[in-house]
Amino acid sequence: MSKPVLVVGGGPAGLSAARALADAGQAVVLVDKEDRLGGAPILSGYAKLVPSHEWAKDAIGGMVSGVEGHKMVTVKTGTKVDKFDGDPGNFVATLSDGSKVEASATILATGFTHFDSVNKPEWGFGTYPDVVTTTQVEQMLSTGAGVKCPSDGREPERVAILLCVGSRDRQIGREWCSKICCTVSANLAMEIREQLPNCNVYIYYMDIRTFGLYEGEYYWASQEEHKVKYIKARIAEVTSDGKRLLVKGEDTLVKRPISIPFDMVVHAVGMDPNVDNMTLSAIFNVDLNKYGYIGKPSTYAHMSETSRPGVFVAGAATGPETIDDSIAQGKAAAIAALISASSTVREAAE
Ligand SMILES: Cc1cc2nc3c(=O)[nH]c(=O)nc-3n(C[C@H](O)[C@H](O)[C@H](O)COP(=O)(O)OP(=O)(O)OC[C@H]3O[C@@H](n4cnc5c(N)ncnc54)[C@H](O)[C@@H]3O)c2cc1C
Ligand code: SF4
Repeated sequence: MSKPVLVVGGGPAGLSAARALADAGQAVVLVDKEDRLGGAPILSGYAKLVPSHEWAKDAIGGMVSGVEGHKMVTVKTGTKVDKFDGDPGNFVATLSDGSKVEASATILATGFTHFDSVNKPEWGFGTYPDVVTTTQVEQMLSTGAGVKCPSDGREPERVAILLCVGSRDRQIGREWCSKICCTVSANLAMEIREQLPNCNVYIYYMDIRTFGLYEGEYYWASQEEHKVKYIKARIAEVTSDGKRLLVKGEDTLVKRPISIPFDMVVHAVGMDPNVDNMTLSAIFNVDLNKYGYIGKPSTYAHMSETSRPGVFVAGAATGPETIDDSIAQGKAAAIAALISASSTVREAAE
């Protein structure tokens, strides 16, 4: 019998990996630095998820209960890995509570960090209270507080959602597309329209990337059924005329300057590499890719592997990912860890 598999990170990817391993009869130690499991959808209070329309607290909350109640899983929240030594089949992790865990393999499912909009100051976040982020709007919906302007609690009559904030922006060193924010924004726009039928919602975009089957259900439905308006624009700045916020820039279809007033402006924030990645790279001795995510040397044949044998990776730790792909990668990493663990046991017996 192999030693436990250590799973670091209890978001969708880590929960999926832990559950798959545990259901296969493999003992798991799951550590997460936060005080509760669930990753970004739970910790950031997401509302209804794309594409299932389930509330995050139900969908991901169900995954959390399945892992927390599993007899093969030991959960350690509020915990990090400080030291990690050894070889496949015989790793030893020293945890931040001082305890040591012997592990046959490890899965890094440490996810991402939301882009901090203060790094895009010309778009008004941090200056004007009614410039908010998609995660804040998700929280307004998921807590039942309703969509309200933070400055005075009024319901907005005009909302602008600005796409690609902290993504596809070489000037601030983030050239990747965060993959899901077009679809999430179209979904939020429809939710706002349902909650506030008199509110006009505009989406400012460079390109729309409601990829795959999301095109009909989100891009077209938001326009045709919910009357959300799309403006192809290059945004220069978000300012205020004292009464309303002004989104200024150029309409790139008609090539004219525009300045349009809004009550609330929403930044569709992207997915940065986890701020811990440099530390994780040093502790686990794994390479990062050129963007700062955990590197995957092989795309197909050895897809869950990192640069270090016996250490696997899944989910948004590897780059912007959706929840369903993170869950699938968690399962793939679980299989890779099982194969690694069983082969080291077999080699020792031979
Ligand atoms: C605004 C917004 C809305 C979104 N909505 C959707 C949606 O509707 N549908 C969809 O498919 N995707 C959505 N996404 C993407 C979704 O958030 C990710 O796909 C998903 O969270 C990735 O799961 P993960 O487990 O890989 O990472 P995470 O959810 O980031 O979880 C990582 C976990 O690792 C833990 N951790 C991090 N560092 C350490 C460390 N050093 N030691 C120990 N633990 C650590 C964290 O505490 C966390 O629990 C959205 C993204 C954004 C930005
Ligand atoms: S998914 Fe859309 S909003 Fe997000 S970075 Fe890509 S193009 Fe921009």
